[in-house]
Amino acid sequence: MTPPRTPRPALARLSIVVPCYNEAAVIGETVRRLQALCDSLPDTQAEMIFVDDGSRDATRVLLRGFAAQDQRIRVIGLARNFGHQLAVTAGIDAAGGDAVVLIDADLQDPPEVVAEMLARWREGYDVVYGTRTERPGESWFKLASARAFYRLLNRLSDVPIPLDTGDFRLMDRAVVEVLKAMPERDRFIRGMVSWVGFRQLALPYRRAGRFAGETKYPLRKMLRFAGDGILSFSTRPLQLSIGLGFLSAGLALLGMLYAVVVRLVTTEWVAGWAAIMVAVLFVGGVQLVSIGILGEYIGRIYHEVKRRPLYVTEEEIGARGRNEV
Ligand code: UDP
Ligand code: MG
Repeated sequence: MTPPRTPRPALARLSIVVPCYNEAAVIGETVRRLQALCDSLPDTQAEMIFVDDGSRDATRVLLRGFAAQDQRIRVIGLARNFGHQLAVTAGIDAAGGDAVVLIDADLQDPPEVVAEMLARWREGYDVVYGTRTERPGESWFKLASARAFYRLLNRLSDVPIPLDTGDFRLMDRAVVEVLKAMPERDRFIRGMVSWVGFRQLALPYRRAGRFAGETKYPLRKMLRFAGDGILSFSTRPLQLSIGLGFLSAGLALLGMLYAVVVRLVTTEWVAGWAAIMVAVLFVGGVQLVSIGILGEYIGRIYHEVKRRPLYVTEEEIGARGRNEV
């Protein structure tokens, strides 16, 4: 898409949102690299918002120390572990910048790429998202499952969601405001940002391995995240269950005709027990699958109507805009 003709103002306020969960092993290095980045950005007033997602290690204590030394650092401590997407949401809600960057704490997303994102934003793009060209240091299983997931999601989703793209991105204030007005509980932020629209640009980058520590996304969380992505962006599974229902009803009808014919024209109508068993089991299976899919959506509706807050903050260091001049 073409960038707008009006370029952005020369002086920009930038918020960098960093979700952290048990990242004590890397956080010092991450802070150092982000500080260096902020120092190097011309005409930019930066704030770094570290969201501690209920870490059980020294992450919070370390962050308090960094915030005491650097006015640009803000810390939001959540009351427990709410998960990556909600930690990012807490950071976005707190951010005061004209542009907001989301970046992981483990240095897999190189902070230096942010300078390039900012330049593209100044040209007039509203969302600049990082697309991974390489991902060294990840298991083949993670790579293969992520690859398959993004392709499946795109087939099912009503909104095109960019392939091989995580949450590493820069968003304009206009996009952030729309995002903040989206109250859904099961959040799949990369999809929500695609849904918003505006001028979005892909920025290819090389995703590094983790600097230290280990992944906080075990298989269980990955599956849940994948489920959120598909169920919040598609009603195709419901259509699939209707399709399965029709298929099984069709087969059952054939089976019924067969049973009637056999009963009327032959004497061996006890035979066919196997066919009945197959039909019963098949229909039963299809029904269970369909009810399960329905249940997933209903569970989400229940989750939505409870209208609980998305996250609970127990500590906040550094008020919004305290480093503004
Ligand atoms: N994270 C979080 N809460 C969680 C899990 C992860 O805030 O419950 C943060 C984590 O500290 C990191 C980012 O989310 O900054 C991505 O997590 P991770 O690197 O473990 O995921 P991976 O890169 O392996 O997919
Ligand atoms: Mg990581």
